[in-house]
Amino acid sequence: MSKAIHTDLPFRFGTVGTPLSAPKTGGSAGGVARIRELNLSALELAWVRGTTNIGDEVCARIKLASETNHVALSVHATYFFNLNAATDEMWQAGRERLLQAARLGFKAGATDIIFHPGSYMKLAPSVAFAIARDRLAGIADQLIKEKINVTLRPETMGKGALLGTLEECIAWSQSIETVLPCVDFAHLHARPGDGSFNSYAEFSAALALIANGLGNRGLKNMHIHFSGIAYGPKGEKNHLVLEEADIKYKEFFKALADCGASGRVLSETPNMEEGAIVMQNSFAQSLRKARAQHSG
Ligand SMILES: [Zn+2]
Repeated sequence: MSKAIHTDLPFRFGTVGTPLSAPKTGGSAGGVARIRELNLSALELAWVRGTTNIGDEVCARIKLASETNHVALSVHATYFFNLNAATDEMWQAGRERLLQAARLGFKAGATDIIFHPGSYMKLAPSVAFAIARDRLAGIADQLIKEKINVTLRPETMGKGALLGTLEECIAWSQSIETVLPCVDFAHLHARPGDGSFNSYAEFSAALALIANGLGNRGLKNMHIHFSGIAYGPKGEKNHLVLEEADIKYKEFFKALADCGASGRVLSETPNMEEGAIVMQNSFAQSLRKARAQHSG
């Protein structure tokens, strides 16, 4: 077997959604194989519009492809979900959608289920946070009962109106054993809307917050989304390719290489796998430098 770069790295790199260069007829299983051809090693299945057309046979095909190609899988669950949904009826519907993504994702070999936690809905953030925590704990309990062995990953969000600061994601993870953050660093950069959160010091401080809050459980098993991003005063507008964005990705990957973390990085740039390859190379280069300094 050819020596793949990812075997040397503490992070696996890949895309959210099937790579653009995958064969059009191969589905997600074809996407998994393409990830491997590109010398990447992770894929997040973009089930963002729901799971109604995903059955057991599709799951079996994806799982086989991931095992054959040594590609780690996660699922991005539906956008139609809000831990702080205003009515019980809306909450139950969203809850069932996330549970179903976890059940099918587990069947497909995914270890992590990523979701957007929701919005404050004009509640005080602390009130919305507590409602969300209790509901999320209920989902985690249900999955344990069903022996669906996945990590639930609330994502850090790019707009001030949305639940999902880094602190909230860490706090949910501290109180629920099967929850860890999905840290979208582009969202964290866009969220304040003023161009801040874009330096080695700020990236390192966020990584230290995770290390202090969650220890090795958080730091050695990270799930990261990364891309360039356009934003305004209210936060995120849209994702961009790295070269057209202001995000200081080389400083980010230096901070990541220096902090001793491991896990996965998933590219959400419009050019998907091209972005993932740039990220993997940038991280590998920073890691080589860091190790040379240690031994020198
Ligand atoms: Zn997302």
